[in-house]
Amino acid sequence: MNLPLSLEFFPPKTTEGVAKLAAVRAQLYALSPEYCSVTFGAGGSTQDGTLDAVRAILAEGVAGVPHLSCIGQTRASIAERLRVYRDAGVRRIVALRGDLPSGYGMGGEFRYASDLVAFIRAETGTHFTLAVAAYPEMHPQARSPQDDMNAFVAKVQAGADVAITQYFFNADAYFRFVDELRQRGIDVPVVPGIMPITNATQMLRFSDNCGAEVPRWVRTRLQGFGDDTASIKDFGADVVAGLCQRLRDGGAPGFHFYTLNQAMATLQVCRRMGWAGSAADERR
Ligand code: FAD
Repeated sequence: MNLPLSLEFFPPKTTEGVAKLAAVRAQLYALSPEYCSVTFGAGGSTQDGTLDAVRAILAEGVAGVPHLSCIGQTRASIAERLRVYRDAGVRRIVALRGDLPSGYGMGGEFRYASDLVAFIRAETGTHFTLAVAAYPEMHPQARSPQDDMNAFVAKVQAGADVAITQYFFNADAYFRFVDELRQRGIDVPVVPGIMPITNATQMLRFSDNCGAEVPRWVRTRLQGFGDDTASIKDFGADVVAGLCQRLRDGGAPGFHFYTLNQAMATLQVCRRMGWAGSAADERR
């Protein structure tokens, strides 16, 4: 049985990128996503791009979901953005603290994502379904896994409905995180964030920055392929489909794919899971 899928995109910066992303979405709609989300740049560069992409998704008859980060924002700026999203027909938001680019400092009137969740609930009641981030391998700035778990619980207590995890390759970290939450009486769905492997160098560098552990055997195999991108993609799809299989068997409620605005890698994983998509999809 297929589980609900959601797809994440980032806002393109050029008109060419906008057209390319529209084509990517058209391919990925074969997976019948529950919704498509669009990231939000805390530094300000992509904030209008988020709204434009969400509007385009809504116009295609799919639920468009903006990410909203609060770092560097004021209550007035967030309230205005909520009004715009509501008027545009948005019913779900991914609520985050965000990371400011270096040199921006902290600033703004919000400190943590839990402050944002509480503010959205106070401003808009239950209009929006609120998703928040979860870190089965711990957020890199947290002092300890316990502190990070407490921070996550605070987001749920502030009104979050569902969690999406940072990507990971270690299913045990996810299962342990969910078990600990359940022991604390927290029953929100925790949807695994899935990173298909498209570019090994980029993925390994990004994983080091965001604290996602890449198992040594995966890292060494990827590095061993050198410039052989076909083998990287084939091996990557096997690894990620195997992870999804374990997560599905272990009770994961759905999957959130970090598409990186590319169709093929996500389609390859889903095809290996026996979901929609044909062999032709894999050749694109
Ligand atoms: P928080 O939940 O506020 O946590 C941040 C840190 O503060 C953690 O270390 C936590 O342990 C700690 N903390 C929280 N509350 C407290 C407290 N009360 N006391 C002490 N410590 C506390 N970034 C973007 O800029 N744009 C995006 O669109 C975006 N989308 C994302 C989508 C997903 C699904 C995920 C998993 C991440 C996304 N990110 C995005 C990255 C995210 O913004 C960063 O990981 C950021 O560093 C933390 O955001 P958060 O919402 O998890 O913050």
